Amino acid sequence: MGARAEQPVLYVYSTIDALLAGAYEGDLTVRQLATKGDFGLGTYNHLNGEMVLLGGTMYHVKADGTVAIADPDEHVPLAYVVPFQPSDTFVVEASAAAKPLTELETAIDARLANKNLFYAVKVSGAFVNVSTRAIAPQARPYRSLAEVSKEQVVFKRTEVAGSLVGLRSPSFSKGISVPGWHWHFISDGKDYGGHVLAGSLVRGVVKVAPVREFDVQLPASDDFAKADQTKDRSAELHQVESGRR
Ligand SMILES: [Zn+2]
Repeated sequence: MGARAEQPVLYVYSTIDALLAGAYEGDLTVRQLATKGDFGLGTYNHLNGEMVLLGGTMYHVKADGTVAIADPDEHVPLAYVVPFQPSDTFVVEASAAAKPLTELETAIDARLANKNLFYAVKVSGAFVNVSTRAIAPQARPYRSLAEVSKEQVVFKRTEVAGSLVGLRSPSFSKGISVPGWHWHFISDGKDYGGHVLAGSLVRGVVKVAPVREFDVQLPASDDFAKADQTKDRSAELHQVESGRR
């Protein structure tokens, strides 16, 4: 075996199961996280809103719907970040009606040769009927994410230009990541975004970046140490991700 070629490494901080269990405080700063890549998603300590990292800028979508540049001294409890190196670019144009997210996912899936990899995917274009959510900062004692997400704030846009920032994770990463698709959104105007619950693409450019290496950093926090990660949280995850109760 010779030296490996430079390849993008997906940096994972904490696990999705820890977040589901209520581990909402990590010990990693935005400044440290930003060194790991220019593309990704996550959340901020106390579950304060949603993180969207695009083009090297980390956005903070808050529960009042506003979008700010993330404070470098802010901490994160969960994040997935990678240097974005797309190898496949294609245009999606909805023929008659706009293409719902599930159809967009199916169209992208059809182009993936190896579904046992991670894929960072950016979809930039014109969208309609987008619903995003953010969650307000939580106080101790922390409840489970399934409980807290019932109080999520949902933001809707009938028409919006922007980018989906997505990660497709393989089934075997269950517990660490969200198996399948996980999308966050940021508008071109940088005034709208969040964790995506629904939306349809009118036309857009899809860029797909396969990732064959991942690096999981486990928090040193008490929250992480005490998070019960022994049970199967698939049902909770589905509820939290889709926004359905
Ligand atoms: Zn999310």
